[in-house]
Amino acid sequence: MNPTSSITACPGCDLLIPVPEVPDGHYIACGRCGTTLSKSYTDSIDRVIALSFAGLLLYLPAMFLPLMTLSSLGLKEKGSVVDTCIGFYQNGYILVSVITFVTAVIVPFLKICIPFITAVSLKTKRKGRFLIPTFKFHKHLEEWGMVEIYLLGILITLIKMGDVASIDFNLGFFCFIGLVLLSMAVSVCLDRRLFWYLLEHSQSPAEDPEILRLGTLFHSAPKLVQTAANLELMRCHDCGKLVKAGPEDQQCPRCDSSLHFRTRGSLSITWALVITSLILFFPANMLPIMQVDFLGIPDRSTILDGIIYFFTHGSFGIGLIIFIASILVPLYKIIGLIIILLTIHSGKNHYLQQKSKMFRFIEFIGRWSMLDIFVVAILSVLVDFGFLTSIHTAPGATYFCLVVIATMSAAIVFDPRLLWDACDVVKPGKSS
Ligand SMILES: [Zn+2]
Ligand SMILES: [Zn+2]
Repeated sequence: MNPTSSITACPGCDLLIPVPEVPDGHYIACGRCGTTLSKSYTDSIDRVIALSFAGLLLYLPAMFLPLMTLSSLGLKEKGSVVDTCIGFYQNGYILVSVITFVTAVIVPFLKICIPFITAVSLKTKRKGRFLIPTFKFHKHLEEWGMVEIYLLGILITLIKMGDVASIDFNLGFFCFIGLVLLSMAVSVCLDRRLFWYLLEHSQSPAEDPEILRLGTLFHSAPKLVQTAANLELMRCHDCGKLVKAGPEDQQCPRCDSSLHFRTRGSLSITWALVITSLILFFPANMLPIMQVDFLGIPDRSTILDGIIYFFTHGSFGIGLIIFIASILVPLYKIIGLIIILLTIHSGKNHYLQQKSKMFRFIEFIGRWSMLDIFVVAILSVLVDFGFLTSIHTAPGATYFCLVVIATMSAAIVFDPRLLWDACDVVKPGKSS
């Protein structure tokens, strides 16, 4: 028996679903909204240990060794990932520097280090008290680690500088590619439901009274009423555990998080963040993001100027990628979230499946808008030939970073189950 076979509630629409045994490498998705519920790897723990250990070995060289050397007119300049963050700091852009440092250096480390420690502890059956809070924290890191976006930023820099300078790859570049691939592989192989189950239990799942009780509750309920909230069950936002609601405020017995039927204040906080990002979107695109000093003469360019540069120099593919990542994606996120929020307020349950799909896409693409910031970061470190020519960050970068952070936070705070509450027969008892 699969140790996590039980009843689960869909995090996207709150539908109660019995989770069958899933064959190795397969996943199951909610039949109503399409959210992925569970993926199965029979040897998830072993795979996570092997992949994250290899990732940890590559981490330090990938971060501190120079990625590439840029040579122009007999001058050479090289830089590592950490150098690019320091570059922003030295330019006086402390906020952008901190955001880049967190998303490209700190979070990528935690994203492979926490699964490694958790998997080794589960394998050796030595479960420390710190494991559950640490693994709970790991769930929130998924969106904020951006090594793959940084790698795309490096590739765009190569194409941008390929005509004017010669570029040599250093060892750090190859270690960084290895780190990106291993980090993605750890995320794919991590069977979160299995890890949570093993963190909580030591007995055989076949004798688990809780699973048996939930199964009886689900099968004895009238078939019309199928959401967790309608059966007075609350799904923990952090670990996914289903808990019977009591008369007072409750904590999750597994991970200690506060339990609510729906994320508290989800609608008002999402509105506030969406409006903030809409306001910041204008200075982010109208103010220059980058300044090129050539023989002491400054030339500032906005995101749109950069896109036009690529189009007029024949690099249509790169121009299109930056246009999509920097302009279309933030706009799509803001407009998409406004449509979803208005749907909830209007109470109309039209096209809920499509809107759920749109929300999942907004969650997925949110991080990719950081692409242009990373390109500016790499350029400002590599192109620093003193009076001759140098590239610096300009004020638009701060606004642009804030737009990305605000739209990503809005997607994280928004509770997609609110979208589906309109079409449920019985409303959740403690909705807030
Ligand atoms: Zn669903
Ligand atoms: Zn929990």
